[in-house]
Formats: sequence, structure tokens, C-alpha cells
Amino acid sequence: MSADITLPKQTRSGELIRLERVTKRFGAHTVLDQLDFSVDAGRHVTLIGPSGSGKTTILRLLMTLTQPDEGTITVDGQALFPAPEKQVREVRKKIGMVFQHFNLFPNMSVLRNITEAPVQVLGLARDEAEARARELLELVGLSDKLDARPTRLSGGQQQRVAIARALAMRPRVLLLDEVTSALDPELVAGVLDVLRDIARGTDITMLCVTHEMGFARDISDQVLMFDQGRVVESGPPEKIFGDPEQERTRDFLSAVL
Ligand code: ADP
Repeated sequence: MSADITLPKQTRSGELIRLERVTKRFGAHTVLDQLDFSVDAGRHVTLIGPSGSGKTTILRLLMTLTQPDEGTITVDGQALFPAPEKQVREVRKKIGMVFQHFNLFPNMSVLRNITEAPVQVLGLARDEAEARARELLELVGLSDKLDARPTRLSGGQQQRVAIARALAMRPRVLLLDEVTSALDPELVAGVLDVLRDIARGTDITMLCVTHEMGFARDISDQVLMFDQGRVVESGPPEKIFGDPEQERTRDFLSAVL
């Protein structure tokens, strides 16, 4: 598989994402508490931790699906929050997200699902968008499903289309939110293999929330262990999975591994 044909190579150095003192509350519940963290360009960072610890909220903040109550978020040197609407739209184009529940357009073909945003949002010519979509469908192993409706595909195939759709925007950052959690067990490996290829074959920055610890160990440069809206421990996967320092991390891993 030649993942590098479709995605721009990016420099491996330099900070791409920065969250500073980010606080997010839902009513009286503080979900993220003065959170600071940054991700360098080209890195693959995995967020692990118990359910409800705020991992998905971080991805949703970056996707501007929700806003912080306090703090700043910067992507590629430009403010995403706080920032004027026009700037938010520009910065948002650098970020792609794949959700747990695929969220494909059911009434459009696979090809159209992938070409729609590049045509409508980036202003790409339709034939150029289609050429890009064909390359991406090859990357995710679905060249033969171009004309299919998503409802005719398995969950694993739909998720691979969703990955191709996110990559079609040529984002600098790919956010992955528990992308295999809704799949039947036998379909998980195919999706993770595609993501491993993308992680190995491209320099795209990945920020990934997952319960698949083997996958996290394989692809991550850095693992962040969350608990109650804070990073309790971070480090390379061999350290976090092999020799964690914090009791909270050890407890979590012994419960999930
Ligand atoms: P994780 O991804 O670690 O499981 P989440 O970021 O999804 O955690 O959620 C963190 C906390 O925020 C949870 O307690 C959840 O119930 C709460 N939460 C998330 N979204 C909302 C919302 N839209 N309204 C109210 N509470 C929410």
C-alpha cells in the first residue's frame, strides 16, 4: 500500500496543536480542568483513560463542535479559540475527524461522500476531487465500492470510507474518536490495519482516542493517560504500557488489558 501518494509530507518538527489552560464545564461538572498539552507536527498521540475522563471532549474542542469556557487553543500557529469566525473556518480546514458512528451521507454514493466536501468547501474541480477519492479508496482497500451506497457496506467498510472522506480534505491533523468501538469484533482489524498504514506511510499528525491498547502501542509516539479531565501521566508507549509510574495508570491498564 502506498499511503504517501495521496497525502502531503509534512515537516516532523514544530508544534502543531497547543491547548493552554483549557477548562470545559457542562453545568456544574468540570470535564477539563486547566488542561495544557501540545502535539508536534507528524506525531501520533493516543489518549487513553477511563470513560468520562474528557478524551472525546478534547477532540470535539479541536473540531469546534464545542467551545472551552476558558483557555486558548492554537493549531498550526493560528488561534482556533478564541478567534474570529473567518479564522476558525480556515483553521478547521486543517483538521479532519473520524467518529465512532461513521456519519456518512446515506443518500450519496461512496464516491460522492468523499468528493462532496473537497468540491463544496475547498472549491476543487469535480474531476480532481474524484481522482483524489479514487486514490484514497485504493488506500483503504475499497476501489470496488465507488458507486455503492453506504448502507450496502459493512460497518468496517463504512468506517474505511469515513477515513477516506476525512483524508480527502488533506488535513494536517486527523482526529480519531474510538473509531472501532461500534464495529463487530471481526471488522476491527481491517480498520486498524488501514490506520496503521496511514500512520506509517504518511506524516499526518494523529490524535487518537482508543480502547485498542495493542493499536495504541503500535502507532503512538506518545500516550497520554487521562483521569478526571487531567493528564495523569504521559510518555512513549513502551513506558506507559510497560512501566507506568502512576498507580492510576496501572489500575486502568490492569482493568483493560
Ligand atoms: P471520554 O471520551 O473520556 O469518555 P467525554 O469527553 O466523552 O469522556 O466526557 C467527559 C464528561 O463530560 C462525561 O462525564 C460526559 O458525561 C460529560 N459530557 C460530555 N458531553 C456532554 C454534553 N454535551 N453535555 C453534558 N455533559 C457532557
